[in-house]
Amino acid sequence: MWFSKTSETVLKELNSNISTGLSDEEAKKRLSEYGPNRLSTKKKKTLLQLFISQLADVMIYILFGAAIISAIVGEISDSIIILIVIFINAIIGVVQESKAEKALEALKELSTPKAIVKRGGELKEVPSEEVVVGDIVVIDAGRFIPADLRLIESANLKIDEAAFTGESVPADKDAMITIEKDNVTIGDQHNMAFMSTLATYGRGIGVVVGTSMDTQIGKIAKMIDEAEEDSTPLQKRLAQLGKTLGFAAIFICGLIFVIALFQGRDMLEMFLTAISLAVAAIPEGLPAIVAIVLAMGVQRMIKENAIIRKLPAVETLGSVNIICSDKTGTLTQNKMTVTKFYADNSLLNIDNIELEKPSNKLLIHGMILCNDATYTEKSKTGDPTEIALLEAGVKYNLFKESLNEQFQRIDEIPFDSDRKLMTTVNKHEGGLKVFTKGAIDSILKISNKALLGEDIVDLNDEVRKSILKAADEMSDEALRVLACAYKEIDSSNVSIDSLETNLIYVGMLGMIDPPRLEVRDSIKLCKSAGITPIMITGDYRNTAFAIAKELGIAESIDETISGDEIDRFTEETFNENIKDYKVFARVSPEHKVKIVKAFKSHGNIVSMTGDGVNDAPSLKTADIGVAMGITGTDVAKGAADMILTDDNFTTIVSAVEEGRNIYNNIRKSIIFLLSCNFGEIVTLFVAILLNWDTPLLPIHILWVNLITDSFPALSLGVDPGDKGVMNDPPRDPKESLFSGRFGVLLAINGAIMGALTLVAFRVGEHLYPDSLMHAQTMAFVVLAVSQLFYSLSVRNPKKTLFEIGPLTNKYLLGAICLGILLQLVIISIPPIAEIFKVFTLTSRDWGFVILLSLIPFILNELIKILFRKR
Ligand code: ATP
Repeated sequence: MWFSKTSETVLKELNSNISTGLSDEEAKKRLSEYGPNRLSTKKKKTLLQLFISQLADVMIYILFGAAIISAIVGEISDSIIILIVIFINAIIGVVQESKAEKALEALKELSTPKAIVKRGGELKEVPSEEVVVGDIVVIDAGRFIPADLRLIESANLKIDEAAFTGESVPADKDAMITIEKDNVTIGDQHNMAFMSTLATYGRGIGVVVGTSMDTQIGKIAKMIDEAEEDSTPLQKRLAQLGKTLGFAAIFICGLIFVIALFQGRDMLEMFLTAISLAVAAIPEGLPAIVAIVLAMGVQRMIKENAIIRKLPAVETLGSVNIICSDKTGTLTQNKMTVTKFYADNSLLNIDNIELEKPSNKLLIHGMILCNDATYTEKSKTGDPTEIALLEAGVKYNLFKESLNEQFQRIDEIPFDSDRKLMTTVNKHEGGLKVFTKGAIDSILKISNKALLGEDIVDLNDEVRKSILKAADEMSDEALRVLACAYKEIDSSNVSIDSLETNLIYVGMLGMIDPPRLEVRDSIKLCKSAGITPIMITGDYRNTAFAIAKELGIAESIDETISGDEIDRFTEETFNENIKDYKVFARVSPEHKVKIVKAFKSHGNIVSMTGDGVNDAPSLKTADIGVAMGITGTDVAKGAADMILTDDNFTTIVSAVEEGRNIYNNIRKSIIFLLSCNFGEIVTLFVAILLNWDTPLLPIHILWVNLITDSFPALSLGVDPGDKGVMNDPPRDPKESLFSGRFGVLLAINGAIMGALTLVAFRVGEHLYPDSLMHAQTMAFVVLAVSQLFYSLSVRNPKKTLFEIGPLTNKYLLGAICLGILLQLVIISIPPIAEIFKVFTLTSRDWGFVILLSLIPFILNELIKILFRKR
């Protein structure tokens, strides 16, 4: 039992070392010996299984039935064609599905948690899967525990073990204890940390004692199946639409069949025609196309540094009209440099520090000792604010390691963004010194004295005023202000609760964190796209406004509000007034929830960024929760819909643009598919109603369906993004797919293509009265080729093909050429022509059918120009 042994014994048994960790070679060896540290996951379907699953579909059963009936009555060629259609359809399905699955798998990999381990004496971030027994793991608030650990060090460490114990209050951990008993429940193993639980507070270090299935969670859950099928609202709506259209198609086909029977037509032919038409008219390929377009879009977004965790987010992104963004690191570079300091009533450049002065010395010492970052020549790790403080110390030859040795830390209260403070207790000349650093307002609240020169004075209103004036001065220059206070205490009396009280204020440091260069342009783009950018920050109001103004987020200080002021509003008045504010300063995570709710109360679609443990609620409340990939905690990532791998605001804007384009592309595929299907129905329905000969044979319908529903529809789905998409306002999320003129265009285009097919057929009958096959061939070609040409004008509802660039979608051009080529092959190669029951067309016929086929495309382009003129 690891918990009953001392940490030294555990380290010895596992052949590990607290100061160096395992060597890289040893870790590699152990990894290959014990395998990756992951719980077994769902088995993947093999290609054959995928293929077979494609066949489990009502439409396919119907087609199989049709093939069998055709074979029984001797129409062998028909039945072969039907089987080929089934086969090709299934292959396309397999390709689409496995491509979509691969994309999603890559996503999962990207968003798996990472662990900080000590290897070869250095701290490294590695994927949790690579953690091995004996690894020394660093735990900090917000991180998932990557494996089962015996704790070696802990500082106010609290871990949420609700998954095991059902206890909602996080458990206190203590590395120093050993537990003598044998039979101890998980909840009582206070010197252990378990895989998949979550550190919510404090810090710790532990040595890995068990990985993968050899952990407590591995034992309990032999198999954790996280892969929930996430379908998007659009996919759900489409599934519904598919069903409705399916029923409608079956009804119409039934009707055609009945009418045909009354007309005394050939029963078998009509039966096959009705079935083929039903198969063609039901957009069964639609879900697959939507899935693949989403998956490919999501892959493109990865390249642009946005990882989508929840598929519905892709669609919602296109509707976002408010982007709330943290300032530090997202709008700014998170590269802090201390430039100014304020002590003894003077605000000076940081180069003017004089360590002989007590205030200057205490200020710098406090900032270095009350600090969790590390700064060496080789590596800088930790919070950039704290790194900047260490960097300032290094300029004066003050190094954290040596100071720490001299003034050993014996206790601490970690930083959190609610208190905006951090405190340590350090040994100091026989006694103890408490150092607290944090936001100036927070420091002033807990201090009652101030150090001025050699003297400790009362922190009266006058002193406070001059301090705040200096803080304002620094923040007006966009500097982030950090203050420091201290007190001396008796070593016999260290009580955590009394540490952050009655402190002596020492001074302040101001650090610059320049805005990201590209963000200004992104903010402009947001505005032209009808999106309001909002800055949210824990920083001081003036600092926030200075940066917001520089970036173009806010014009006047009246557009800023601070957390305290928010608290003074009732929820109702806050909701009412929310529109007036663009910058929210000194907010805590809990305010973020209020802000999101207030914006949402006006029907806005809100995106919110976050990184800390406490940001999870606001990320969940937002329509799009965005977590930081670099600085974000596992909790924030777990709650988010999207993760930014570069923590950059610009990436959110690109993701919105991508989201808009993906939605548009899906709509294009759908409009195209449905108008083509409608065209086929119109052709047959009209011909039968008018008691003409059947213009299309069942195999013709199946074939046209095969060549248009597959590649052209998919190619529309991957159409390159429209550059003008960010000049439009955000899409209303309630808007139907067929709103505006989309629905009308769909119906008109279907009708036109149907009519042209019939024209070709009637002209054919007229030209070749003795050969029905010749006329049918002309109708067949017009139906197929007009759909192919028409796909070109579906690419953009407003701009003509020549405006968006005729050659910009190579896939679509390829699909069209392939479709026409196959059509030529079918008609011109005699054995194949025989199977398809088609006739070789003359060049005059070809000229005529091609001209007819161009009409829908030309009409659509003309309509675009006319609409624009109006
Ligand atoms: P955001 O990322 O939301 O734009 P932020 O990073 O500035 O804001 P916090 O990290 O919550 O927000 O910081 C709020 C304030 O707390 C800062 O203005 C600073 O005064 C203080 N602060 C920040 N980091 C530390 C730290 N490590 N120790 C003590 N105080 C800190």
